Amino acid sequence: AKDGGGNQPAFFEASMGDSAAESFRIERELRVAVQNHELRLYLQPQFNALGERVGAEALVRWQHPARGLIPPGAFIPVAEESDLIVELGVWVMTEACRLIAAATCAGLPLTLSVNLSPRHFRQKNFVAWLRDLLDKSGTPPSQLTLEITEGLIIDNVSDIVAKMNELSKIGVHFSIDDFGTGYSSLAYLKRLPIDELKIDKTFVQDAPHDPSDAALIETILAVARHLQLKVVAEGVETEEQAAFLNSRGEVIHQGYLFGRPEPAEDWIARWITISAL
Ligand code: C2E
Ligand code: CA
Ligand code: CA
Ligand code: CA
Repeated sequence: AKDGGGNQPAFFEASMGDSAAESFRIERELRVAVQNHELRLYLQPQFNALGERVGAEALVRWQHPARGLIPPGAFIPVAEESDLIVELGVWVMTEACRLIAAATCAGLPLTLSVNLSPRHFRQKNFVAWLRDLLDKSGTPPSQLTLEITEGLIIDNVSDIVAKMNELSKIGVHFSIDDFGTGYSSLAYLKRLPIDELKIDKTFVQDAPHDPSDAALIETILAVARHLQLKVVAEGVETEEQAAFLNSRGEVIHQGYLFGRPEPAEDWIARWITISAL
């Protein structure tokens, strides 16, 4: 991973290693990338059992001038080690709100789910900042879903609950991402203003053949029914997986079977055309 060739495999090797020097290099390049407009927002659609599009998840990519398109797994973990993740999150959310507002203006009432890093949510002024962003961009708060992980809820719970309540009151939705992969207890679910649980793709992909994954999904669906939460299944790749999920309950599907993540502008342009037909 020297600076000479800069080919993609070297980058991935570097980013997956834990060398502090390599992390530092990625961090330094990423800091410039935000300012140089090298980040791209991709959207992946979500469909209900009737096949209606009910939303989309915003997923960031890095269009590196030398290395091409870099997936988030190669740089988000590095960004999360510092306040760089806040800068990145600010960019992602600003872009997401711009897209929601533009699509809504064009007659496509788009709902977007955005991944929110715990470090960003813990910023003291996060709620005020987001309210201001929603306001200035003309984004209806109910068309924004924040995907958080169980890890957020581990410490300073009362502060987190207060912030979530404040945003929930103005209409922002909350989803628990990678639900069931963390180690926290389920008790927090009834304290928080949560609307949705997302089943991680590792459960979804094995469920049709692995009884323990099947049982896990059934348990998540039972919890969701009792607490009246929506459920989104991520990583649905096959008809078999989709059929399995539909046989077990009411599930929103997100996965390659229904649509891959696509550059946001292309995606919105296509959906505006489709819905105008
Ligand atoms: P995630 O939030 O669990 O996102 C779902 C991942 O599954 C995405 O990977 C998506 O492209 C992928 N996926 C969707 N459908 C399928 C499928 O059918 N099969 C398979 N094999 N994969 C599928 P992606 O885009 O590489 O993102 C990886 C992770 O990076 C995300 O996992 C999320 O944790 C993080 N991430 C992405 N964008 C952002 C962002 O804007 N902010 C933050 N903080 N994290 C982000
Ligand atoms: Ca997510
Ligand atoms: Ca996941
Ligand atoms: Ca398994």
